[in-house]
Amino acid sequence: MSHVFHRHLQHTYPVAVRGDGAYIIDQQGKRYLDASGGAAVSCLGHSDAAVIAAVQQQVSQLAYAHTSFFTTEPMEQLADFLIERAPAGMESVYFVSGGSEAVEAALKLARQYFVEIGQPQRRHLIARRQSYHGNTLGALATGGNAWRRQQFEPILMNVSHVSPCYAYREQQPGESEGDFVARLVRELEDEILRLGADQVMAFVAEPVVGATLGAVTALPGYFQGIREVCDRYGVLLILDEVMCGMGRTGSLFAAEQEGISADLITIAKGLGAGYQPIGATLVSKQIYQAIASGSGFFQHGHTYIGHATACATALAVQHQIEQRNLLPQVRQLGNSLMARLRQRFAEHPFIGDIRGRGLFQGLEIVQDRSSKAAFDPSLKVNARLKKAAMANGLMCYPMGGTVDGRTGDHILLAPPFILQDSQLDELVDKLALACDQVFAELPR
Ligand code: PMP
Repeated sequence: MSHVFHRHLQHTYPVAVRGDGAYIIDQQGKRYLDASGGAAVSCLGHSDAAVIAAVQQQVSQLAYAHTSFFTTEPMEQLADFLIERAPAGMESVYFVSGGSEAVEAALKLARQYFVEIGQPQRRHLIARRQSYHGNTLGALATGGNAWRRQQFEPILMNVSHVSPCYAYREQQPGESEGDFVARLVRELEDEILRLGADQVMAFVAEPVVGATLGAVTALPGYFQGIREVCDRYGVLLILDEVMCGMGRTGSLFAAEQEGISADLITIAKGLGAGYQPIGATLVSKQIYQAIASGSGFFQHGHTYIGHATACATALAVQHQIEQRNLLPQVRQLGNSLMARLRQRFAEHPFIGDIRGRGLFQGLEIVQDRSSKAAFDPSLKVNARLKKAAMANGLMCYPMGGTVDGRTGDHILLAPPFILQDSQLDELVDKLALACDQVFAELPR
């Protein structure tokens, strides 16, 4: 019996032993095409020689230096790299070890900012339904995914949740895109006014929704409208780019494509591409300066923040992406993938929607395309799909099982940026096979 407390306690996992480009190889020698980057992490695949060399070099030079004693060159250089390329107004980078920690830091920075500027009454947070911001308690409270929150609800801090820009299900019949966007922006404004315009601290959103909805992009104008409302009431905008950032949607920051900036931006996953655990919170000049010229100390911190090996690794990852000019490739491969998914699944009776941007795409599974009715969560369609795909040598990221009745099962695809065009065929063929196998067992 395994003594590891695994994610699914009753499940037997294959033993991953080696990476080879876009594949993971298990103990039996079976190859799995990584069509999801794990959870949108492995953007450079699993055997990048330059990144591996950077990990080895840094760890052999300096194992660990606590940030209350030292700074390090990799940490300084990575911060410079990110700020030079970040949306306008970003000034400083707070390094952590992953996405949830990045969100926690953003929430505390927002709160401390208002304390520093003499508005300590601002304490309310607004986020969106069906969102995911992490599993630590603050991040979980921020997220609006009913299924993940359910049993922890009594110990979560109070956060308001407004509607996401999820046109497939939230846009009403006969409602234009413009009217839908205006309604959502008004909903946020109404919630700010309901809580008290001078009581709200921040609004949190993923520019492209990942884990809970499967690559849902916002409609044009949505984020601009949100930004305007936040500015009108002095509410900070926190963009959670943990999953959709770092090139995943074809630009380094997903916010670039929305034409907005933010007050705080969280990143992780693709930052270190899985070669080391790392995340970060990008902080605007306004927030940084308020704290720097106020108490001069952010009341936060973890033992492993700014770990030199993690920072050197992330820097090597980002240099690879830039030097090999991979972002245009993400856009082009993304278009090819979308075309192939549409060709294969557009008429499929159980696929209701195909969506996404760059190499971040999703398929929503429905029992009935015209009513958009989801399958009963007890059928565990997403778990069956994952199992069938793994049996066929494909890693994809099916999710669902919601309890709010507002989403169905879906499959998230987030393959490495280094994929060959021919591997897109393998991806789509294996996915179609898994769908055929699972859908054949389901009630019509
Ligand atoms: N925010 C978003 C948008 C995410 O997708 C995730 C992870 N799926 C997180 C936060 C949490 O990141 P981590 O799992 O690294 O804590």
